Amino acid sequence: MSALFQNYARRPIAIVEGKGTEVFDSNGKRYLDFTSGIAVCSLGHAHPAIVETVQKQSEKLWHISNLFESPGQEKLATSLVKDLHLSYAFFCNSGAEANEAAIKLVRKHTGKHKIIVFEKSFHGRTFGAMSATGQDKVRNGFGPLVSEFITLPFNDVEALKAAVDGETAAIMLEMIQGEGGVNAVSAEFAQAIHDIQQSTNVLVIVDEVQTGIGRTGTRFAFEQTVLKPNIVSMAKGLGGGFPVGGILGTADLFDTFNAGTHGTTFGGNPLAVAVAQTVIDHVFNEVFLATVQQKSAYLTTKLKEAFPEEKYSVLGKGLMLGFGFGEEVAPYITALDEAGLLTVAAGPKVIRLLPPLTVSEQEIDEAVAILKSVILK
Ligand code: PLP
Repeated sequence: MSALFQNYARRPIAIVEGKGTEVFDSNGKRYLDFTSGIAVCSLGHAHPAIVETVQKQSEKLWHISNLFESPGQEKLATSLVKDLHLSYAFFCNSGAEANEAAIKLVRKHTGKHKIIVFEKSFHGRTFGAMSATGQDKVRNGFGPLVSEFITLPFNDVEALKAAVDGETAAIMLEMIQGEGGVNAVSAEFAQAIHDIQQSTNVLVIVDEVQTGIGRTGTRFAFEQTVLKPNIVSMAKGLGGGFPVGGILGTADLFDTFNAGTHGTTFGGNPLAVAVAQTVIDHVFNEVFLATVQQKSAYLTTKLKEAFPEEKYSVLGKGLMLGFGFGEEVAPYITALDEAGLLTVAAGPKVIRLLPPLTVSEQEIDEAVAILKSVILK
């Protein structure tokens, strides 16, 4: 009998150790981890630089609260906004919390309540983030939800233009919907959002909780589009496995988040920001990001060579790839587990491949061989 709530459909595998892309279960069985803990372990498991940071910082100071100045947060914020149009950061502990901060910030800044969100989106499980999420399965049973989230079809320019009015505070979207099936924003849709942002006072929140921190081959995925969001939320890859999240915002938002308006006890504690700094020092680097793009091209090519394009599609960008073939993927994911490749579903019909950004070509070859042996069998 488990003393845990059974709110997760856990797989019958207990991972107890990991190094790079490899993980090992309690029976000593080896797997290639193409989940990265759902896009979290950006530098792989037990990266030596992260291990060293945790060791050093844990001997110095773990936590002191936001009652005091935080040199670690100052440094991390500066690294995150460098060369971007964004100016300020706020740190919290998870993706949902980052989105809560974004939602509160746009409501307070604009004095309006209406936020446009999209079908199949996922923004988290807290009330605001859940209300913003365009999936009934996430929201059912928890009403009444936070009001005035308007859910539209994703990538539908006309529906968007028709929905925006003088009461609209913000448009909130993912650049690639992760949980919803690896659906990328189209160039036309990004342009339409950009045009609305330019011609009205509507703010744009880009949820980069999954796509951010190098996952799609650039620091943030919005950099590959025309969009210049007012707020970017982030978490997952930021801590490389240590829980940390945050938002970045434009300079004009500075006065809205003034003293006492928002906060969290643990947010940006010295241990969390030390680890995140180590991650950013590795990932926010042109050479590193170029390797992510090369590995993405390599994995995409290998998948396309192995699986005929008429039936199998490869979606996504960077090392956030989706692989679909029109069938329910749950049984295949179980078979892949058994064959030693850990993957994660994105909706019912897409297998998500989210290896650590440090994955090697040899590991990609091994993963594609396992995919072939399981799926083409
Ligand atoms: N936003 C996106 C795009 C996500 O993919 C997720 C988690 O999967 C979240 C928000 C929620 O993040 P967390 O689980 O850290 O609260």
